[in-house]
Amino acid sequence: MSSYGQVYVENGKYRLKGDFHHLTPNMPIRDKNDNWRLLGVTNPRDMTYIHSYGGEAVFFESLSKGKLLGTRCENPDCDYKGTAYIPFRIHCPDCLGKNKIEDFTKLAQETGKIHTFMVCERSGAFNALDKPIKFINIEFDGISTILMSYLSLGDPKFGMRVVPIFRTLDPTYTILDLSWVPEGTKASELPEGFSF
Ligand SMILES: [Zn+2]
Repeated sequence: MSSYGQVYVENGKYRLKGDFHHLTPNMPIRDKNDNWRLLGVTNPRDMTYIHSYGGEAVFFESLSKGKLLGTRCENPDCDYKGTAYIPFRIHCPDCLGKNKIEDFTKLAQETGKIHTFMVCERSGAFNALDKPIKFINIEFDGISTILMSYLSLGDPKFGMRVVPIFRTLDPTYTILDLSWVPEGTKASELPEGFSF
């Protein structure tokens, strides 16, 4: 069995190791009621996709360290100077300047509130979350945008105070490393691998 593809960067270039495409034999599709006549084939596909985070890499790295980063426009010539964003926006949508990165963990802990929510009983392929999935949109004082995430404990309600939790043990370095629980939840109740 060949190994899955792995990537690191050296001197500004991707270095690839292992196999990024696995060839799996196809299988015939046959009609049981018609003398097992051939109708087609299955085509298994297994590929490793290289997903670059670019300027957002610091956001995902910080989740694994228990920090929620956002950004703020500090361009003095911008009509909307001071506007702050969670989720992380690399550039200001108004002046297109590069935003300044800011640690909003404390703000999220103290002011995070459910704006609206959606409970999904079913999911698409490759879903890694427990069902039903409680998707929540969270608002924060002084932040112009609303963050989409998921509630790990309890049932969502409009205006409910929530606090962020982070998968600091075996992080996936994806947005799933960030989740939320109702304010007042004890550390011992958190899902495995997560901490405040
Ligand atoms: Zn701006």
